Amino acid sequence: MRQLWQTGWQHNRVRMIAASVLVKHLLQPWNAGAKWYWDTLVDADLGANTMGWQWAGGCGADAAPYFRVFNPVLQGEKFDPDGEYVRRWVPELAKLPAEWIHQPWEAPMHVLAEAGIKLGKDYPVPLIGLTEGRDRALKALKALRP
Ligand SMILES: Cc1cc2nc3c(=O)[nH]c(=O)nc-3n(C[C@H](O)[C@H](O)[C@H](O)COP(=O)(O)OP(=O)(O)OC[C@H]3O[C@@H](n4cnc5c(N)ncnc54)[C@H](O)[C@@H]3O)c2cc1C
Repeated sequence: MRQLWQTGWQHNRVRMIAASVLVKHLLQPWNAGAKWYWDTLVDADLGANTMGWQWAGGCGADAAPYFRVFNPVLQGEKFDPDGEYVRRWVPELAKLPAEWIHQPWEAPMHVLAEAGIKLGKDYPVPLIGLTEGRDRALKALKALRP
């Protein structure tokens, strides 16, 4: 979100992950995310933005299936293996080894201490567990099916 606020742009992969986390893990309405991206993107396009959010939300014309819930940690490890993107936009985590940079809440205490990170102070604790969030989303979305 810092990259979006500071530059008005995000790579498509980042947009898909952010949208999936907001709509599925945090069960927020896709149009709330679409509104913020419409306000902040330099390339804001009504069609592409709406379809991008509906795709991530599993409700658009050519949507990702509702049960496709992005795992932001696995996505980070696959597309940002050295943590370069995180170090750029989340400098609080810059001293963390790549092994833990996409999931600092799983890092051993000594690793956090060496990186000068106190969870809940220097970096927030997770709003919801990834598995818990995924299961809650699947249950909620399944309940919407006709
Ligand atoms: C949640 C979400 C919101 C999005 N909001 C927008 C938006 O407001 N405006 C927008 O132009 N794109 C949007 N996209 C699509 C895509 O993310 C951007 O077009 C792309 O990231 C822009 O970066 P680029 O110009 O370097 O793209 P490149 O990969 O270089 O592509 C070149 C051009 O192709 C078009 N394009 C590429 N990918 C897509 C795509 N998935 N859907 C539609 N057009 C595409 C764009 O015009 C883009 O500028 C969104 C995607 C998601 C998942």
